[in-house]
Amino acid sequence: MNVLKVLRNYFFYCGIEKEEYDAIKKDVYVSNFVVWRILHCFMAFVFLALYFSSLMNSRLRVNTFFYLMAFLYSAAGIAVFFRLKKDSRIPKLVMYLSISLLFIFGCFISQNSASVPATTFIALLLITPMFTIDRPIYMTFELCGAATLFLIWMYGVKEREVWDVDVINVVIFTIVGIFLNIIADSVRIREFVLTRKLNIQKDTDELSGLKNKAALIREVNAIFHGAKTDKGVLFVMDVDKFKSINDTFGHDVGDDVIVQFGTILKNQFVNGEIAARFGGDEFVVFVEDVDTADKARAIAEGIVNGAAEVILPAVGRKMSVSVGAALYSGEEKDFAEIFKKADSALYRAKADAENRFCSYEG
Ligand code: GH3
Ligand code: MG
Repeated sequence: MNVLKVLRNYFFYCGIEKEEYDAIKKDVYVSNFVVWRILHCFMAFVFLALYFSSLMNSRLRVNTFFYLMAFLYSAAGIAVFFRLKKDSRIPKLVMYLSISLLFIFGCFISQNSASVPATTFIALLLITPMFTIDRPIYMTFELCGAATLFLIWMYGVKEREVWDVDVINVVIFTIVGIFLNIIADSVRIREFVLTRKLNIQKDTDELSGLKNKAALIREVNAIFHGAKTDKGVLFVMDVDKFKSINDTFGHDVGDDVIVQFGTILKNQFVNGEIAARFGGDEFVVFVEDVDTADKARAIAEGIVNGAAEVILPAVGRKMSVSVGAALYSGEEKDFAEIFKKADSALYRAKADAENRFCSYEG
């Protein structure tokens, strides 16, 4: 059972857990895209060179047509890779099609040298697994399919003894190709896992587990400078009388309050909102696509109610936070501008004995 699980992990997720694989597969895909672009340029160059060589060399002339076709295909591939978006699914299909065509090309080459065992085809079995980082199961199908096609095709073409040698070579090198693919993918995928972990670490506030200030500013600015939305709301919140919590119960309890409140915010904002610890006892949340004061108030009430859930080591004592909010309407140029507004609203909320929430009103 365990062996099956390990094999499944290697064939489907490059030897890591499914969740980990899902988290990085987009980054992996985009990195493939760059390789695929270069590869199609390289293919076009090689096939064009082969085409001209075949015009000049009588031994190669029999392949002239295939070289020309392969060049035209590669040139079309370049157009695909320079026109399509990096997250489109089509380039992946084109890439597997290109690999299939390379194998068909290998078959033609072998067919034209019927009296010697295949070499180009075998080389392709070993090289093509390096062209893409993907679930190894796909490349396994690709290699097995290509090997089967090759052997059926060559059966009627090659001399029997040569074909026997091809069978042995193709079977062995298909297995080697699959093995190489699994090894190469599992080694290369670890780099993405590591990079992701480092990025998360770099962007995370150690104590609360929320985003840190640098990540918050970067992500809010990215929204302001992007075209996705020009609506949203920024909340700035500060724990009331936090110094007194530290002084009364000790710094450890103060830390625990930050951890608890961080968890509450994390559980409350699970739909891609940006929730961060700005520093000390100050927290910031940015929610996209909020365009009315009423919606902002409802979210702020959720935050204020959440803070009351924080457990303090004294019966009857409750934690509270003050919240200031500023609506974003596409006017503010950057984080600093909207933060100033929300912070001035927070200042008013702090001063107001009745209300824990204030909205910026210009
Ligand atoms: P106010 O109601 O006006 O917000 O009063 P306050 O006592 O909360 O005052 P303020 O927000 O200015 O104080 C924040 C305090 O938080 C000051 C600092 O000692 C404490 N603090 C900052 N970072 C940490 C931390 O990581 N852990 C703990 N336990 N305390 C911290
Ligand atoms: Mg405070």
